[in-house]
Amino acid sequence: MLQKDTIISLATNAGESALGIIRISGSLCKTLCRDIFDTPCPTARKTILKNYRCLKGKIIDQVIFVYYDLGKSFTGEETIEITIHGNDIIAEMILDDLILRKCRYAEPGEYTKRAFLNGKIDLTQAESVAEIISAKSERELELAQHQLRGNLSKILINLQSDIINLQCRFEASIDFPEDEIKEHNKQEIIDRVSSIINILKDLIEYSKISSVISKGLTIVLIGPPNVGKSSIFNRLLHDKRAIVNELPGTTRDYLSKELSIGGFRVELFDTAGIRNTDDMLEIQGVQSSIDLIDSANIILLVFDCSLPYPNEFFEKIKSNIKKQTIIIIENKSDLNCTLERNHYPPHFSILRTSTNDSNCSETIIKKIEAVLLRYFKTNESSSILVNKRQSNHLRNSLVHLHEVMNLIKLSINEEIILQEIKLCIDSINLIIGSKDNEDMLDELFKNFCIGK
Ligand code: GDP
Repeated sequence: MLQKDTIISLATNAGESALGIIRISGSLCKTLCRDIFDTPCPTARKTILKNYRCLKGKIIDQVIFVYYDLGKSFTGEETIEITIHGNDIIAEMILDDLILRKCRYAEPGEYTKRAFLNGKIDLTQAESVAEIISAKSERELELAQHQLRGNLSKILINLQSDIINLQCRFEASIDFPEDEIKEHNKQEIIDRVSSIINILKDLIEYSKISSVISKGLTIVLIGPPNVGKSSIFNRLLHDKRAIVNELPGTTRDYLSKELSIGGFRVELFDTAGIRNTDDMLEIQGVQSSIDLIDSANIILLVFDCSLPYPNEFFEKIKSNIKKQTIIIIENKSDLNCTLERNHYPPHFSILRTSTNDSNCSETIIKKIEAVLLRYFKTNESSSILVNKRQSNHLRNSLVHLHEVMNLIKLSINEEIILQEIKLCIDSINLIIGSKDNEDMLDELFKNFCIGK
């Protein structure tokens, strides 16, 4: 499905830089090599140093170009990449010249769209290209790179073939009465459907993890006043961002800062100390701390280990602690420790430290990293990125498959079961990509940047 226009764009950022790359894709590439570089038969994938000579005969820049053969480029079309000196004037002069030579500017994502239409990548891989470019943490980048290698596609193709086998089984039972599904082999079919359901459920679960990874995790420092939350916040940021004071109630509002822990994007919040108070401003601060607990993935619960367990504090936050992972930090370990552990909430990790210790931040970071590893532990989920569009189709296919299961159990007519199976396959096909759905493709690729 080669496109007839030859498209061009600057593939690197505009502005002053050491180098810039202009990308050309389409059937005019060979002609352009001949006319611009006087190289009618360029060796594919080899760098060639030449002057870029415009239509009027003037040399615009000394460049290096690489020619890619039909079928052996990212788009699947003949492609040229021209490396120029990173100057906007040079880039514009070359792009203007290429327009005069009957090329046109590429739409956002058009190179990737062509790669998809020419069968070089499937839709999940095309999406991963955008995800690689927009990744904001090492972890997100790693997942998107796995995706480009086809991790999700492989699972979906296996899934698709399992469902098609099921479809064949029902078709056979309609066409050949001797293959009818009887009570004794019904259980085997139910087992097959239920194993496909489990794979779908896992993938939907991964989509929740993917969304946490791309949105970033929220870590909230919570505790009574004066236990050292702001000191810990500053230590973790290696900065004196929050005001530290011996007076309780200094932090009235929350502060937040983005940082990277274990390759994950994290937003760390320092909050107002939670206690009973009559001060209106402090009451508001306490309420916003409590609200933040709800949105936290990880709570760093800070106590002063030289004081008794603060029952009043825990009563106030108890109902907000649900699924969040809790790390208890017993701070001020340089002082005499009187804190009793038997009142702690269930399911927590624990560490004792002092912000006066030089390795305080390292100890806390190590504990958070261990929690993150556990949080994203399953090997498969840690290498699969399932985005919102994909998870919507997965949910649809799951609905149809549940229906298949019900119908089988009720021994409903095979033709009705087949209809549901086909709807399930359609949903999976939509994830890998149907080339006929122009609107969907336009919607998807318009979010790409130009040059990709
Ligand atoms: P927050 O109200 O919970 O944010 O607590 P701050 O970080 O403002 O600290 C309250 C007081 O405790 C300040 O005087 C800090 O210097 C002191 N502090 C913080 N961490 C430690 C620690 O590990 N040991 C000791 N002895 N004092 C600390």
